[in-house]
Amino acid sequence: MKRLVIATHNRKKAGEMLTILGQSLPHLEFLTLADFEGAPEPEETSDTYEGNAKIKAESASAFTGEWCLADDAGLEIDALPGELGVWSKRFGGESLPFDAKMDRVLEAMDGLPDSRRGAKFMCWVALSHPAAATETYHASCEGRIARAKSGSGGFGYDPIFFLPDQGCTMADLTAEQKHAISHRGKVLRLVVEALRQKR
Ligand code: IMP
Repeated sequence: MKRLVIATHNRKKAGEMLTILGQSLPHLEFLTLADFEGAPEPEETSDTYEGNAKIKAESASAFTGEWCLADDAGLEIDALPGELGVWSKRFGGESLPFDAKMDRVLEAMDGLPDSRRGAKFMCWVALSHPAAATETYHASCEGRIARAKSGSGGFGYDPIFFLPDQGCTMADLTAEQKHAISHRGKVLRLVVEALRQKR
């Protein structure tokens, strides 16, 4: 394998994936879907992270003919079962800005004690090539929902995801600190090991 396409249209997510993978796999050339004009953005029609990661990776590998890596992530909140999770991007409606999505979560959890604010980020990654069986990997990152938003790093729900061990939210961390402990950092380290075997 000489080239790997990061199969996401989310620029922040692509940036995180490129940073993490690029440091560990310097021999690989990385591309994103922005390098392939007309690359489709498939509907995420599965009700599992794994299914959606596969849809995105397989759509990209069929279009580009290259090895493609896609992730599907979400925030699971114990006190709001079934409300975010695989549907985290659509919580409150896809067009609702993230700031407002986070306000909704904070309002729904107003007054709940820390013991009932448990949450975890999930991340599944699919690695696909037109001539190979798709492989999947997954990891999670545990924390709890903060009382208020904090920080400007990361993206998505990071400002309300409190990490007890760090004493701050995911958005308060530097990019490097986030990657060291995040669901995406963990799963991509598994992918790095798998890709090293394919050299
Ligand atoms: P998807 O994987 O693009 O479907 O993302 C699901 C939702 O979870 C999106 O709304 C993302 O913004 C959010 N999300 C995914 N990864 C992260 C993360 O690392 N931090 C915060 N939010 C995330």
